[in-house]
Amino acid sequence: MPNKKTILVAGGGGFLGSHLCEKLLDDGHDVICLDNFFTGSKENIRHLLTDPGFELMRHDVTWPLYIEVDAIYNLACPASPVHYQHDPIQTTKTSVMGAINLLGMAKRLNIPIFQASTSEVYGDPSVHPQVEEYWGNVNPIGTRSCYDEGKRCAETLFFDYNRQLGVEIKVVRIFNTYGPRMQANDGRVVSNFIVQALKGEDITIYGDGSQTRSFCYVNDLIEGFVKMMNSDKDITGPINLGNPEEFTIKELAEKIIELTGASSKIIYKELPADDPTRRRPDITKAKSILKWEPGIPLKEGLEKTIAYFEKIIM
Ligand code: NAD
Ligand code: UDP
Repeated sequence: MPNKKTILVAGGGGFLGSHLCEKLLDDGHDVICLDNFFTGSKENIRHLLTDPGFELMRHDVTWPLYIEVDAIYNLACPASPVHYQHDPIQTTKTSVMGAINLLGMAKRLNIPIFQASTSEVYGDPSVHPQVEEYWGNVNPIGTRSCYDEGKRCAETLFFDYNRQLGVEIKVVRIFNTYGPRMQANDGRVVSNFIVQALKGEDITIYGDGSQTRSFCYVNDLIEGFVKMMNSDKDITGPINLGNPEEFTIKELAEKIIELTGASSKIIYKELPADDPTRRRPDITKAKSILKWEPGIPLKEGLEKTIAYFEKIIM
């Protein structure tokens, strides 16, 4: 294969990372999966361990790394509020020092580097839907700040390495994504509701459930990652990747109850601090620049995700 590359996936043992490793191997590349397994799991990649193109490396991105590869995807960072708030100092360090170490490697090797940024850089947005030009509304000292500001600083570093040192960067801002290999206990809304429904427990809505999110199925998102990495050198992003269909959290709960046939009832709990009230990506740029848009509707994606959790829970 003439375009076969060796590709580093930092955070490759996580939910999104494991799907990305799989896709890159399917496309014929060699993959080095780097992870410290803080939130990732060997179970996510166990089926890849026997693939001759796959190599696993236990490493923490806050420490420098000297290996030779042709491209880097940086996904290393805990992503669910429960996980990133567990050790907030380490969360900021992972985003910022991880970016510095991997950008340094991209500079040394003169290779492209992809950053998994997030819709959280928009904070609790006053512009709706969110366009890439919007600078965001982020609390710098709150309980979500370790994640939001860490990711914002990482974006700053990516763009400065690009402007100052000519590093080829590929920055995407990911909106809520769900699918198989989310962790049952990661506290994110889709996994929480599905697990609660399957166990017949109460469905816990935080606040009154009127806050909105837009949910993208994992396979759609991974297609977007690869299109971004393969785009022309001058395409730096940031580009929003997500599904623009917007739902209230109450609608999501009702859909999951319906699809699982659960007898669960909905209960209401306190809304966490700085919880964004609404979120929906404007994906005009992804459509025009990357020719990407998601194709899997929420019902279909939820059915696949429910089937996954049924298997691991039952
Ligand atoms: P995840 O927690 O499943 O994956 C993150 C991976 O990074 C894990 O395997 C974890 O062990 C690893 N990791 C954490 N700290 C590390 C460190 N210091 N060194 C090496 N590895 C480390 O989460 P995910 O949902 O797969 O998210 C992947 C990336 O995408 C994250 O950077 C996240 O911020 C971003 N993102 C995800 C979503 C989403 O909806 N899933 C939305 C926006 C952004
Ligand atoms: N949420 C909820 N019940 C839960 C988990 C989450 O109502 O059991 C809400 C949460 O308050 C937020 C939304 O669902 O408004 C999405 O939460 P998640 O943690 O999945 O992602 P994020 O807030 O980072 O978008």
